[in-house]
Amino acid sequence: SSTFMVASHAANKGAKPDPVFAVSKAATDAIAAIGKEKVVNASIGAIYDEEEQFASFPAVQNYFKQISPEELMNYAPIGGLPDFLQAAIDVTFQGNFPENSFARAVATPGGTGAIRHLFFNYLEQGQKALIPDWSWGNYRTIAHEHQRDIDTYMLFDENNRFNINSLKEKTGALLKVQDRVVVVFNTPAHNPTGHSVTDADWVQIIDFMKECAQDQQKKIILLLDIAYIEFAGEPEETRKFFRLFHDLPQNILVTIAFSMSKSFLIYGMRSGALIGLSSSQEVVNELSQVNIASNRGVWSNGTRGAQRLLADVWKNPQLKEAIDQERAAYRQLMAKRAGIFMEEAQEVGLNTFPYHSGFFITIPAANSAEATQKLTQDHIYALALNKGIRIAICGIPTYKIPGIAGKIKKAL
Ligand code: PLP
Repeated sequence: SSTFMVASHAANKGAKPDPVFAVSKAATDAIAAIGKEKVVNASIGAIYDEEEQFASFPAVQNYFKQISPEELMNYAPIGGLPDFLQAAIDVTFQGNFPENSFARAVATPGGTGAIRHLFFNYLEQGQKALIPDWSWGNYRTIAHEHQRDIDTYMLFDENNRFNINSLKEKTGALLKVQDRVVVVFNTPAHNPTGHSVTDADWVQIIDFMKECAQDQQKKIILLLDIAYIEFAGEPEETRKFFRLFHDLPQNILVTIAFSMSKSFLIYGMRSGALIGLSSSQEVVNELSQVNIASNRGVWSNGTRGAQRLLADVWKNPQLKEAIDQERAAYRQLMAKRAGIFMEEAQEVGLNTFPYHSGFFITIPAANSAEATQKLTQDHIYALALNKGIRIAICGIPTYKIPGIAGKIKKAL
C-alpha cells in the first residue's frame, strides 16, 4: 500500500512539472547571471511594457484607488452583481446580439471558472469535450480535474486554414457515442497561434452544427473562449460573427467564456462569466440556475471589486474611453512587435501558423524540445509545445524582437 495520503483519483496529479513555470525560471536564472538586456523571455503569458515591467491600465489602477472598501472587498452575490452580469452580456455583444435569442450570465472567477462549469455541468462523467489540437493546455487539466476527458480536432488544414473537415469528422464521431458534444473554439486571437476563425468559417461551422442538431436526441453545446477578444481589433469587427447565431434550434446552446483577465489586465483578480445564448429562454434560465448552484458549491462568489469595475465602465463613458485608449495602445504595441517578427520570419523562410492578433505566435516544430533548448544558447527562452514553439510577443520589448525569427530558423 502507498505511503501517500491522497485518494486514488488524485494520485500523481500534478507530478509533471508545469512547462511554463520551468522556462520562466530558466529565463529568470539567465537574467540573474548575464543581465536583463541580453535575455529574451518569450514565455510570459501577460503583457509587459517596453521596459519589461508588468503592464496595467492607469485608469484601472485609479479606479481601484477610489472605490469604497465595501465595493472592493465585500462578498458579491453568488451569481454576480446584477449590473455586472448585464455589462458582461453588453460588452460581449456590443450591438451584435443575434436575433431571436436569449442570453444570461453567471459570474465566475475568470474564463477558467466558466470553462469548469461548462465541462462539469454540460458533460456526463467520462464524456469528452472537443478542443482544437493547438490549444491552451488547461482545457485538459480542467476536464481531468472533473473526471471529464478531451478529444481534439485539427485546427488547421494543409493550407493553414481552419480545418472544417476535421471539426466535422470529430464532432460526428463523438455524437455517435455521446448524447451531447461540447465543442471549444478559442477565437479571436487564439492561444497559442493568434489565429482567428473568419466569418465565412463560422457560417460553415454553424450550418454543420444545425445539421447535427436535426437529431433531436443530441445536445450541441459550443463554447466560445473569447479571452483575447479585446486585443483582436475594433469591437464592431471582432463581434460581428455573434450575429450569425440567430434562430438556433433549441438543442444548440452557445456558451461564452467571458474573461476580464486580459481585457483589463487584471489576471489575478479572477473575474469573468459564463454566458449562455439560446433561442430558448428556459435553456438560459437553466444555465443561470445550475451554475449559480455550482458557484456556491465550488468557490462561493467572484471578486466584487472587479465586477464593480466592469459594471461602472459600462455606465461611465469617460472611464470606458480612458481604458479603451490605454488598451488600444497595448494592442498596437503587440501588433508592432508581431509585425517585426512576422516580417523577419518571411525574410528568413521561417514557417509560422497564421497570426492574426493576440499575445502569442507559434512556429510548427516537430523537434520543439530540442529547438527551444538550442535557443537558450542565444538566451531566448520560449515555450516548447507538443509540436511547436510558442513566442509570447506580449512580453518581449520591441527592441529585442529583431533577430529572434532568424535564430529560431537556425535552431530548427
Ligand atoms: N482561455 C485561454 C485560451 C487562455 O489563454 C486563458 C488564460 O490564459 C483563459 C482562457 C482563462 O483565463 P482566466 O481564467 O484568467 O480568465
